[in-house]
Amino acid sequence: MWPFLVSGLALALILLHLWWLRRHRQARRTILKLKADRRDSEERRRQMESQARAQEEALFNSMIEGVLILDGNGRIQLANRALEKLFATTTDLRGKTLMETLRIHTLPELVNRLAKEGTVDGLELELPGLDKRLLQVNATAVLDSKGQRQGSILVFHDLTRLKQLENTRQEFVANVSHELRTPLSLIKGYVETLLEGAREDPAVAVRFLQTIDKHADRLTYLIEDLLTISRLESGQIVLNLHPVELRPIAGRVIDDLQARAAERSVTLFNRVPEGLMAHADADRLQQVLFNLVDNAIKYGRTPGQVTLGGVRTEDHLIEMTVQDDGPGIPQESLTRVFERFYRVDKARSREQGGTGLGLSIVKHIVQSHRGEVWAESEPGKGTTFHFTLPEARKV
Ligand code: ADP
Repeated sequence: MWPFLVSGLALALILLHLWWLRRHRQARRTILKLKADRRDSEERRRQMESQARAQEEALFNSMIEGVLILDGNGRIQLANRALEKLFATTTDLRGKTLMETLRIHTLPELVNRLAKEGTVDGLELELPGLDKRLLQVNATAVLDSKGQRQGSILVFHDLTRLKQLENTRQEFVANVSHELRTPLSLIKGYVETLLEGAREDPAVAVRFLQTIDKHADRLTYLIEDLLTISRLESGQIVLNLHPVELRPIAGRVIDDLQARAAERSVTLFNRVPEGLMAHADADRLQQVLFNLVDNAIKYGRTPGQVTLGGVRTEDHLIEMTVQDDGPGIPQESLTRVFERFYRVDKARSREQGGTGLGLSIVKHIVQSHRGEVWAESEPGKGTTFHFTLPEARKV
């Protein structure tokens, strides 16, 4: 009986031990799996965090506005690329104060204002330096759940270009008003004198009426040129680009201006070679040549000569020229003549019915053909206007 009892007990103990071993192994496996899962989720969390950080950084750096984030002690936590560009800095701004880095007194003052006001909108700031950038700052204090200040965010908008455009527009409106007022006041003056009795003398009346007619023409040219400029700038004029043979176009311009040239004893020559082809809008091109030849007649010598030429350059461009033998343009005005309303000799331009817009129209049209225009002149020997156009193959 005893031996059976002992061997039965031993078997039970062995079985119990085996069961315990299996449970222990299972428990170990479960713990290892849990640890691995935790490692995985930790890794995933880290990946997601770094992805979110990279997205945030990409977002900040792709912003046009400069962004500056300060901590509660006024030290820079983050500055995006636009901000570094605005302030022309290449050093790492993080951890430093505004006065250590950007050195603009208004900024620490602004941060102090934020402590009291919470937000500051539309503060304008002029950066010192050669290009005098004008910035607008919007700033806000960052508060925690208890209303304690944790830092501040400053957003900078660059207003320089906007301001320049506004100045140009204001200047243009002022110039246009002035240009319109001059002939109008002259017309009014002559009409009043006629009404006051000058009409009694037929010779005086005719002279006054001719002057009125001339100034009315000036007004018409001015309005036509203003409309052309406005249409060109607003993109209303769409270029009708085709292969265009240049010699016949130069011929047409010469025909149109022949009478005007004869009045001033100017001879016009068409030296544009046959077969020279440009990829251009024929009507606009004719307008460019018309303005240049018209100027060459108006401001050239009398008697004088005006020559139209053209060559094919090595880089597949056509270079057209209009050359006169007049008094020329002073060196300092050679680039400025393409500005609106710029005239070398104001009285001469007005007397010739000039609007001051002819060459800016020329420049606009040439540039919209992806060409360039420039003037060369030797005082006393004449002026040559050059412009380029893309070449076209003969069809
Ligand atoms: P405008 O209507 O006064 O002729 P433009 O824009 O056509 O206006 O020309 C601007 C100025 O450039 C003219 O007023 C004139 O002083 C100068 N200019 C243009 N072409 C010539 C030229 N061929 N010779 C000398 N001066 C010129």
